[in-house]
Amino acid sequence: MEKKEIIKKYASTELDVVWKPNKCIHAGECVKSLPKVYNPKEKPWIKPDNASTDELIAQISKCPSGALSYVKHSTNNKEIQ
Ligand code: SF4
Repeated sequence: MEKKEIIKKYASTELDVVWKPNKCIHAGECVKSLPKVYNPKEKPWIKPDNASTDELIAQISKCPSGALSYVKHSTNNKEIQ
């Protein structure tokens, strides 16, 4: 049986932060580096507008599990890891 992948998107002005909860190992790297964006106690738990696009991209590239990625609004919806 195929397991359905859950994909959540959190939009900022310039990009969507894409989060795949099945992949997340809850290492907390995101929360540690950008606590103003990632707060598991709040809903939505990711608020991309609280950081600049550069800050978001730098942080997303450090996610150890690959659960986080992003889609820039300007690039034909291509997913960049
Ligand atoms: S850094 Fe990645 S793996 Fe760690 S909690 Fe955040 S999303 Fe999950």
